[in-house]
Order: sequence, then C-alpha cells, then structure tokens
Amino acid sequence: MDTRRRLAVMIAVLCALVATGTIFRMREGRVAQKSAPPSTPAAFSRIVDLGHALGPDNPAWPGDDKPFEAVENASFEKDGYFTRKFTSLEHFGTHLDAPAHFLKAGWTVDQIPAERLYGLAVVLDVRDEARANADYLLAAEKIAQWETRHGRIPRGAIVVMRTGWAERWPDTARYRNMDAAKLMHFPGYSVEAVKVLIDRGVYGLTIDTLSVDYGASKDFPVHHLSHGAGLFHVENLADLSALPESGAYLVVAPIKLEGGSGGPARVFALMP
Ligand SMILES: [Zn+2]
Repeated sequence: MDTRRRLAVMIAVLCALVATGTIFRMREGRVAQKSAPPSTPAAFSRIVDLGHALGPDNPAWPGDDKPFEAVENASFEKDGYFTRKFTSLEHFGTHLDAPAHFLKAGWTVDQIPAERLYGLAVVLDVRDEARANADYLLAAEKIAQWETRHGRIPRGAIVVMRTGWAERWPDTARYRNMDAAKLMHFPGYSVEAVKVLIDRGVYGLTIDTLSVDYGASKDFPVHHLSHGAGLFHVENLADLSALPESGAYLVVAPIKLEGGSGGPARVFALMP
C-alpha cells in the first residue's frame, strides 16, 4: 500500500471507531477507576450531523462572487481514480470563524486548541421569536430561562442559537431575506446576551443563519466582542431540531487551514 492509501485506511478505521463509540468506550475503560469529568458525556446514543454539504449552490454572503468552485482533476476514465481541486472562501457554507477573523492577535483556525472544539451544547431555542420577528436579537432573558431549567451554563459549553432559519436553506433569497434597500433580515445574538455568555466561559457561539450578528447589522458588534474574548463561531448550521436544550455534546471539526481566518467545518452532535 502506498502512503496515501495507508493514510486513507487509517482515517476510515478511526472514523468507524468514533462512529461506533468504540473510542469513547475505550477511554471510559482506561479511566474506570476515576470519576469522569463533568464536561464529558458518559455515553451517547447516536451522532447527528449538523452541517450542510459544501457546494456551489450554498447561499453566500452578498457580494461574495464565485465563492466556491470544484473542478475535476483526475477521472476514472483517464486516470483510474477520481480527484477534484476546489477553491472556496473561508467563510462560506457551514463554517467556523476563528478569533483572528476580527482580532489581529487572535487564534487562526489551525491554532484553536482542540479541547475548545468540543463541549456541552447549550441550545437556546428562539424559533417562535424568529418567526414573529426576522430582526430578533437574542434576549439575555433566554439564557436566564435556560439556567432556571438546567442550571448555570458550565465553562467550556458551546452555545447553539436555534432560530429555525435553516429551513430556508438553500433558497438564497429567502435565506438572506433582503429588503429593497439591500439590507438583510435574519435573527442573531445580542451584545447583551453575549456578555453573559462570555461571563459563563463558553468557548463558542453557533447559529443556523449567515452570521452570529443579525442580518441588519452594519458594524458586527457581536463578532468584535466574542472574537475579542477568544470565542469561535459556527455559522450556517443545518437543521437543529433534533437537539435537546441540554445533554448533547458538540464536536466542531473545521478544516485545519494554516493561518486561516476560518474555514468549512463539520459539526456533529453526540446525542444523550
Ligand atoms: Zn464567518
């Protein structure tokens, strides 16, 4: 086997082990004598994929012309195997924003410590509010209500703002929801709420819209505030309806792009 083949086999085996939970059971076995850290699930029932497939028809940020292209590089007919070359904007499709996106000295996507890309999914459900008001900003009260039901948000959690917007994907016009003045209208985080979440020590903010700042924002205050505090974002998440308000754990796996301001990401929920 050549090196590339061997690597592919190793990755496939690793994926299979993760998918079947074998790795987690192995780890449990090894630390059976100690109590598990509270931020780690003892077991999970299944894995839910929370991302969209990256492709040319994904809704792009307005003005991002030709955000993605994939061309065939080798074909079965000509070469006996299949490869493509793709080019993509870093902020396109289901993707991660690294702190370096808005903070000069911030971590680039490859520098984010791996342990920050895994954590309890704190799901803040605002589907009713977003249906009534496309310009909805996350109320800090929503966090208080979550904490009344589930306890204080633990350090290292990853917040999921579930707006229901993903049901508009991949209809670009409906997803951007632009008015005659070319201003977009979709819900987002508020500065007030993000201050509370930073105080709780969360590692990331995620959402099922184009941006953690609401569509009508012109100066992106949430990006400035949260990246300034070292948080990452995931934007354009897919259908989040399967997630419980608490109890699922997220695995956020962005492309490890050297020096990147962000990049396409796969996001998985380990379900209780
Ligand atoms: Zn982004």
